[in-house]
Amino acid sequence: MSKETIEHDIVIIGSGPAGLQAALHAGRRKTSVAVLGKLKNSSLNRAHLENYCCMDNQVMGNELLDQGKQQALRSGAVFYDEDVLDIGLEDKGHFSVLIESEKILKAKALILSMGISRNRLNVPGEKEFLGKGVSYCVDCDGGFFKGQTVAVVGSESAAASGAMTLLLIAEKVHLIYHELQVSDSLKNQVEKSDIIKHPGRRVTAIEGKESVERLIFENGESMNVDGIFIELGAKGALGLASKLGVSLDPENFKYIITNKKQETNIPGIYAAGDICGPPWQVAKAVGEGCIAGLEAAAYAKKH
Ligand SMILES: Cc1cc2nc3c(=O)[nH]c(=O)nc-3n(C[C@H](O)[C@H](O)[C@H](O)COP(=O)(O)OP(=O)(O)OC[C@H]3O[C@@H](n4cnc5c(N)ncnc54)[C@H](O)[C@@H]3O)c2cc1C
Repeated sequence: MSKETIEHDIVIIGSGPAGLQAALHAGRRKTSVAVLGKLKNSSLNRAHLENYCCMDNQVMGNELLDQGKQQALRSGAVFYDEDVLDIGLEDKGHFSVLIESEKILKAKALILSMGISRNRLNVPGEKEFLGKGVSYCVDCDGGFFKGQTVAVVGSESAAASGAMTLLLIAEKVHLIYHELQVSDSLKNQVEKSDIIKHPGRRVTAIEGKESVERLIFENGESMNVDGIFIELGAKGALGLASKLGVSLDPENFKYIITNKKQETNIPGIYAAGDICGPPWQVAKAVGEGCIAGLEAAAYAKKH
């Protein structure tokens, strides 16, 4: 039996803030838009936002996602609460997208907004204390640790610059790393700073009662902290993008490269949000989603 095929102007892969904002803008340009992916798998689903412009009170990410979906529905987008299994480039530069229910969606333009998943430390306590002292984002949660003691784990720029940022907020900042792999100038700043450095140490457990209280090291020693930032980088959902020949950042192949119109190197394919690299913030995701939605709508109308 042949698979059901449905045609749309634009298929958006990802229903986080980037994909929802793209749907909202593309829908308003009177294009037929399909949004794929599960709202609950958006990073925003687990966030409490405090640093999003014009929302002075802390808002729950899952509430924002629900409202974003309603707005996108009102602008005419249709939702398939399903993951993408495969993707292909067809004749005339159109795309075909296979989803879990075995439907094939055809589109003139694609927007890739599948987000990222952060690399874990994989130690006891990490999951249990997520949001109770364990964080993966200094920009998001640093402000909660005013005057407290925090540790940052990681050897790359995100960890080193995260620790520098935390120095402006916290009382004491520990940086736990293997070997710093950062630019000479950042290394210099870290060396001259008040960051307490722990080269070559490895955290093996995070402990506490209601929230994080201490870290345990490989040699059994412990260190009291109020919070730990795990800055070990991230993986993007890049398999699908690579299959289409979309260019990734040449340094570490973790992010999709776009220009200011959110265009990738493949005509008709746009990308937005965390999948395009840091800062991993809602404000950036919706900004890029807006541009991608408008540009994809203009492209679809021409093709
Ligand atoms: C605990 C936590 C706290 C945070 N706090 C803040 C904060 O305070 N302030 C702030 O600005 N940011 C915060 N963030 C970051 C913010 O949530 C992200 O920057 C934002 O959600 C990125 O949006 P996105 O649309 O690019 O990706 P996401 O929101 O991650 O959405 C990705 C979407 O892609 C879908 N997807 C993935 N793979 C597939 C596939 N194969 N097929 C179909 N769909 C797929 C997923 O289901 C999901 O719908 C926080 C993140 C976390 C985890």
